[in-house]
Amino acid sequence: MTENKNDRMEKIVSLCKRRGFVYPSSEIYGGFAGVYDFGPMGVELENNLKTHWWKWMVHKRQDVVGLDSSIFMSPQIWEASGHTKGFSDPMAECKECNTRIRVDKVLNDLGIFADEKMSEEEINKLFDENKSKIKCPNCKKQNFTKVRKFNVLVKSNLGDFTESNSSPSYLRGETCQGIYVNFKNVLDSQHPKLPFGIAQIGKAFRNEISARQFLFRLREFEQMEMEYFTRPKDEMGEYEKLKEYRWKAILSLGIKEENLRWKKHDNLVFYAKEAYDIEYNFPWGFDELEGIHARGNYDLTQHSSGSGKELVYQDEETNEKFIPHIVESSGGVSRLFFAILCDAYHEDEMGGETRILLKLKPSIAPIKVAVFPLLKNKPELVNKAKEIFGLLNEEIQPVTFDDNGNIGKRYRRQDEIGTPFCVTIDFETIEKDAGVTVRNRDTGEQERVPVIELVSYLKSKI
Ligand code: ATP
Repeated sequence: MTENKNDRMEKIVSLCKRRGFVYPSSEIYGGFAGVYDFGPMGVELENNLKTHWWKWMVHKRQDVVGLDSSIFMSPQIWEASGHTKGFSDPMAECKECNTRIRVDKVLNDLGIFADEKMSEEEINKLFDENKSKIKCPNCKKQNFTKVRKFNVLVKSNLGDFTESNSSPSYLRGETCQGIYVNFKNVLDSQHPKLPFGIAQIGKAFRNEISARQFLFRLREFEQMEMEYFTRPKDEMGEYEKLKEYRWKAILSLGIKEENLRWKKHDNLVFYAKEAYDIEYNFPWGFDELEGIHARGNYDLTQHSSGSGKELVYQDEETNEKFIPHIVESSGGVSRLFFAILCDAYHEDEMGGETRILLKLKPSIAPIKVAVFPLLKNKPELVNKAKEIFGLLNEEIQPVTFDDNGNIGKRYRRQDEIGTPFCVTIDFETIEKDAGVTVRNRDTGEQERVPVIELVSYLKSKI
């Protein structure tokens, strides 16, 4: 089946709305750019992805602990980290229709290297050189302002009661700052030995210049970050291990390996030793899914001098005190969510009709099993189906019950949300004690399974 990349994107966006994965925020008020709501299926998938990450990054390991730090923090943190000055993206505005563009990304789309770390002067030069190739995405005219760097930290007036909001606090622009500033608390309360990590999942906010590409670039999103503290000499060895570990963790979600690749950062910030992104092949091409960075001792050094508190580790044997180095893994929940949907989205032919299905790995599917009575108007079938639903629901979650419409339609609905197994109760189940039929989402094949074996049969496959 041939389809262009816009079609694929539209199909996924439409499925997300139709089946309750993702809704545009504030839709009845005309929407609110850069923000989305996760519906009943979306929240299940999202939670499964976060649980998977937590399992891999915290529970499976003896050397990482979790944290849930606050969204609001002292504004001094964002000064010390450099965000109030440097957390900015290059922006130009169309003089005809006021549409804003993020200039580094627009240049990248033309195959020209540019990034947010470039100075205003550098990026203006590149923009001028290539202006003839750049059109406003909205009105298609070519009349732009000069490029200026726009700070993407989101300001609030929390704790500031002046009209002018002259001392703003910020909604955190990344979750890792909460980890750095709790380094000493974790050290003093848990006494971990180097190397060790602190992991956190939580909301982050950025005033993205052009929030686009569905869930890829949001203004409110969730991050999953793990900061791993090492001895200076061990930094690069641990970095390599973390890269390998994250690759394995992402593959274990069922993502196809050919849709992933490594991308090395050519333009490093001055303190970074090395940085790679894991990129996913989104409908518009390969783009960042998560970053893995070797950050040296920059973050703890900055917060040490910003706060005046010593953020050091003391070696028990040598008594030597030093600032640990950090290797980090930093990914976004919604980007992973989107990548998973792109990877799982399939169309095939079944029963002479095109069907849409999400080939999600059973462990991350929003619904694990759907239970159907063959007919809605036969109480004996409905009662038996409810009994089996109750039995399954005790052992496997979540399970859904559906008696609406013909079986074919019920299968299609479950295929579209990626439910790996549908269990049907028919007359043979009750009259001949012949078990139930279990239908496999990907192959459409049906198998008779005795009721007594049903839980273990399904558990072994989920
Ligand atoms: P980009 O270059 O795409 O703006 P970034 O390099 O600034 O991203 P980081 O600051 O390294 O991103 O953030 C780490 C991860 O957080 C990213 O790999 C991505 O998965 C996620 N992320 C960052 N910004 C957004 C956003 N606006 N919407 C959704 N996820 C995001």
